[in-house]
Amino acid sequence: MGGLRTFLVLTFMAAATSSAAPDAGFDQGVDVRPAIATAREAAGMTGRRLASSPERADDAVWISVSNADVAALKGEFDFSRRVPVSQNSLVSIFEVTVAELDALSDIMHHRLRKCGGFFAHPTLRAAKADMAEPPLAMARAYEIDQRETVVPMLKLVDEAAITETIKRLAAFKNRYYRSETGAASARWLRDYWQELSKGRPDITVELFRHGGWAQESVILTVRGKAEPGKVVVLGGHLDSIAGWGGGDNVAPGADDDASGIAVLTESARVIVASGYKPGSTVKFIAYAAEEAGLRGSREIADNFKQNGVAVQGVLQFDMTNYRGSADDIYLIADNVSEAQNAFLGKLIAAYTDYRVGTTKCGYACSDHASWTRNGYSASLPFEAKFDEDNPNIHTANDTLAQSGGNSLHAFKFAKVAVAYLVEMGK
Ligand SMILES: [Zn+2]
Repeated sequence: MGGLRTFLVLTFMAAATSSAAPDAGFDQGVDVRPAIATAREAAGMTGRRLASSPERADDAVWISVSNADVAALKGEFDFSRRVPVSQNSLVSIFEVTVAELDALSDIMHHRLRKCGGFFAHPTLRAAKADMAEPPLAMARAYEIDQRETVVPMLKLVDEAAITETIKRLAAFKNRYYRSETGAASARWLRDYWQELSKGRPDITVELFRHGGWAQESVILTVRGKAEPGKVVVLGGHLDSIAGWGGGDNVAPGADDDASGIAVLTESARVIVASGYKPGSTVKFIAYAAEEAGLRGSREIADNFKQNGVAVQGVLQFDMTNYRGSADDIYLIADNVSEAQNAFLGKLIAAYTDYRVGTTKCGYACSDHASWTRNGYSASLPFEAKFDEDNPNIHTANDTLAQSGGNSLHAFKFAKVAVAYLVEMGK
């Protein structure tokens, strides 16, 4: 394996120097083990489930991981032993099992402080799509001219309401994507969102079924009154995880990521309380299965892309309620839209006095990457510098108490969400 090691060290250096440009250096890659893997997949011998039946723990899945992370993890996850199926200068594809995704998630978290950190795909073909450069996001004009609408709506953002949502979500034993409580948390959120939007026939709430696992994603749609075909997406992940124990472990996920779902919920509540009707369609999406390789968001973003949905912009909220650094809001600067990030900076300056910093979180660190991968403009405003974020995530101690029992930090992100959806959805 000495040769492979050397190659990974070299590619780590290459990746490090080009990390500001997420699409630099992509090529079609080298098929390290093509004959066996492709033949097995073609013959249906991978243990892959039928699309209609739930996957099993020993079913095969394919992960795309940055070479930089493989090098940084050295021998962990047996990376020194595993042979990639395919590889280019930035990314390697490995075949693993569904059960191994939890172990990789845990290692990514504890060694590299990542939430996610890789993509998991149901087929080798889907994984190999990540070897190609992502399509360029559509350029658009960003304007800030909705002050009369935004300012009164921002006054309605309620810290106590955010806290209530976090408490309700954190009360599930866990929201693990393959557990009963994880599935129940999705149905609960569907009901919660339906309740808050009743009386608004232009708002619908639905479950997005993934098929392979129990937990569904939840989508609240505010239909646009002028251009309903244009869609603005605000998202966060519903699932939580703690270690390798899956559905047996206690994983309140109060910050990771009940705080993001609470920001979405509060934004939707403000839309209803203010009577606001957007010109474009606004969708709030609570993704299943982020912690297992961005699986829920990837299926949804791929689905939107395949259906030609005109997504105008995507804003991800993943960890909003732990103030670990001096500034208020940190814009993640890699694998995002630079143009939309610049707009967000101006938006925050126009409507708040919050201090904004920037930080990086690496390959596939949260669901925004699923949209970036499909050529959509996505951004992630984050709670702290990447190495100063909440140290309790992915444990039984990710509780609201770690944020002082309040939502004062998440409150800022809810204001950003409201300003964003109005200026983008006009
Ligand atoms: Zn997260």
